[in-house]
Order: sequence, then structure tokens, then C-alpha cells
Amino acid sequence: MGHKKTHYEILNVTPSTSPGDMKKVYKELLLSTHPDKTEQNLQNARDYMEKNDISIDEITKAYKVLSDIKLRKQYDEHLLQDGKKNGVYKFGEGVDEVSLDTFEFLEDKEEYCKKCPRCQTDESFKLTDDLLEEYAVECEGRQDGMFQVLTQCTACSLWLKVNFYAADDYEQDED
Ligand SMILES: [Zn+2]
Repeated sequence: MGHKKTHYEILNVTPSTSPGDMKKVYKELLLSTHPDKTEQNLQNARDYMEKNDISIDEITKAYKVLSDIKLRKQYDEHLLQDGKKNGVYKFGEGVDEVSLDTFEFLEDKEEYCKKCPRCQTDESFKLTDDLLEEYAVECEGRQDGMFQVLTQCTACSLWLKVNFYAADDYEQDED
């Protein structure tokens, strides 16, 4: 109690969830308002909302933010800042920072994977170059060129802040 749900928690997704999967989750949840869908879908969505005390308005609002790359990035920054200030969110003061170097890069899938340090589930942390590029936030006041992205274990919901340095391919010749 006393924990304000984040948009990610409302949709039961993580900052690593792709826009496509996000849309799928959202549509499944919205089925609860469409009586023409199958009874099982309806029941699943209703159960989820009831169990987690979530309204359709919250779901719509969360999706609106998380489905928009710009808004999602701003929201992530806000969560990071907010967490730093008062630790209200789960990934506040207590969140461990890890280096992207501790992730294993799977060449075939082009994914960075990590075993969860809490629940020990293999590959439960996953990042891709696209996600890093889209959602990482530059850490101001720290080392130059250091970026950070929030990610969550798909198995136990543990949050981690992943630090990395922009590779040459990311750098744009602006300035
Ligand atoms: Zn875990």
C-alpha cells in the first residue's frame, strides 16, 4: 500500500517491452469494455483490473504515455528523477546499477541478456540496441557520454538501472 502504481505496473509491462507488445497488452485489457469479445478474454481482463485495483481510465492513460516514444522517454526520466528524490517508486534509492558489460550479447538474437540477480532466471533482463537508443537517458553530472536505462526482470519484476557508454555508431555529428 502507499505505492503509486507506475504506468508500467498498470499495464503489467516493463521499460523493455516493445511498442508492439505494449499494444497487444493494451488491446487485451481493453477487451473488458468490448462485450462482443470472447468470455474468457473478458474475464481475464476484468480479473486483472479487479485484482490490481486498476481502472480502464488508468489503463488508457498509461498506454497513451507508453505508446508514444517521446512521452515514454519523458516519463522514464521523470521516474528516474522522482526515484532519486524520494524513493517513492520501487526503483528509487534502492535500485542497483549495473553496467551493460555484465550483460551477455546474444549474436543470433541481437539481444543483451542477463540472469536476474534476485530470482536467478536466465535471460530475464533483455535489452536491444533499438531500446537503448530510444529510451536511454544521458546521465548528466556523471562521466561524459554515460547513458542509463531502466529495465525490469520479466520474471520477478526487479528493477535495475543499466549504465553504458554510447558506442561510436550512436554518436551523431551534431553540435
Ligand atoms: Zn528476477
